Amino acid sequence: LAGPQQADAAVLAARAAAPAWAGTPAQERARILRNAARLMDERRCDLAALIVLEVGKSWQESDGDVVEAIDFLAYYAAEMERLAGERLTQPVPGESNHYHYWPKGVAVVIAPWNFPLSISTGMTAAALVTGNAVIYKPAEASTLTGLAMVDLLHEAGVPAAALTALPGWGEEVGARLVAHPDVNLIAFTGSREVGLAIIETAARMAPGQRAVKKVIAEMGGKNAIIVDEDADLDEATRGILQSAFGFQGQKCSACSRLIVLEGVLERLLARLVPAVEELRLGPPEHPASDVGPLIERAAQDKVRRYIALGEAEGRVLARAKGLPATGWYVPPVVFGGIAPDSRLAQEEIFGPVLVVLPARDFDQALELANGTEYCLTGGVYSRHPEHLQQARRRFRVGNLYLNRGITGAIVERQPFGGFGMSGVGSKAGGPDYLLQFMEPRTVSENTLRQGFAPAGAE
Ligand code: NAD
Repeated sequence: LAGPQQADAAVLAARAAAPAWAGTPAQERARILRNAARLMDERRCDLAALIVLEVGKSWQESDGDVVEAIDFLAYYAAEMERLAGERLTQPVPGESNHYHYWPKGVAVVIAPWNFPLSISTGMTAAALVTGNAVIYKPAEASTLTGLAMVDLLHEAGVPAAALTALPGWGEEVGARLVAHPDVNLIAFTGSREVGLAIIETAARMAPGQRAVKKVIAEMGGKNAIIVDEDADLDEATRGILQSAFGFQGQKCSACSRLIVLEGVLERLLARLVPAVEELRLGPPEHPASDVGPLIERAAQDKVRRYIALGEAEGRVLARAKGLPATGWYVPPVVFGGIAPDSRLAQEEIFGPVLVVLPARDFDQALELANGTEYCLTGGVYSRHPEHLQQARRRFRVGNLYLNRGITGAIVERQPFGGFGMSGVGSKAGGPDYLLQFMEPRTVSENTLRQGFAPAGAE
């Protein structure tokens, strides 16, 4: 693990490497990203296996992680080609006006463990293809996958000096990088607590600092699915199970609040409860397992505390059986009788815990859904066109899903990210993302009166 001294050295090295990388043509940087996409595709199974073993994600979802990383590389390569070069702003006689982008300089990428390849690759590829020198700090729990990504990018042609891997403790290495006066941009994805601390630290001017730092911070969620009275309950049950308990609920987009119209509550629970009870817990490398272990002991302790709180405040509607004897497993649990303003219904748990909140009518359902500080993902199961329309207008989330699960956004098709306490920054995998990593410039030249001084003329 690197320490604060290595963090300082990495910033110094990145600063020295930045001009050459910024001077590399955008088309060449895009070509390198496409090389990396090809290498990842060739090693798709190996990389997925690494993710299964390092963070306990299922085979299918680990494969999805790799595929999303490949999509990020290809999409940001194409996006950079779209944005590269100069654009004439307006044709005016006697004056040329051109608009173009510069890289910001030194970018620090701080990544979470839960999408160890895709999110790391997305942030790193965006920072690199826009011409920034990058220092990448993987999450502690997914360091090996992070290092595999960096090796692969170097192999694809990213110069060693333009991309440095700096594994280490967040509070030590991450915090040092964020506070460093010579860093221009921080791309962070992770918890709200750390994201807000990074925004605060980055806003403080250090002696010797020459630029205000830009922070892109994608943070947590407390996402809801609404089930309307006329919803297809079989479809809804399938979507809820996958959204709430896929990867053990350890996704920022996971569903942790289920808002159900009272008229249909009983009929939905008649499907959901047995489905939850039949989920199979077991090692993720075994294809028969539905639910694997949590990432670490501290996560298991934390989720168990929330479950104890739920048992005290409400009642268990469903709980998966067959808990393995060893490993950081927690059974998926569904709670009823929980107040909408309670901690269980407001805080991000990041585990397989689902709270059911009944609603009188669709209006109240939307109010409940909007009743948190997070605005990341949300879903509605309904066959009522007017209700779907209302959800489009009023459901305060960055990614709204109608009549489908609420996880698994696809690059370019469903640009991803939230607002409110879920983040500041513009949609990963979307058309505005790369702009955040660059400085726009305008150059205006009077072409009428300056004449022409040939080289060598006195
Ligand atoms: P985390 O905030 O604990 O850690 C994220 C990264 O920040 C890690 O690399 C960690 O080492 C680093 N870090 C920790 N303390 C730091 C500090 N003081 N200064 C600088 N860096 C520091 O999050 P996590 O447990 O890795 O990931 C889970 C969280 O990420 C959840 O809250 C989840 O909702 C969120 N998340 C959000 C998105 C999104 O797109 N909005 C995607 C994935 C995960």
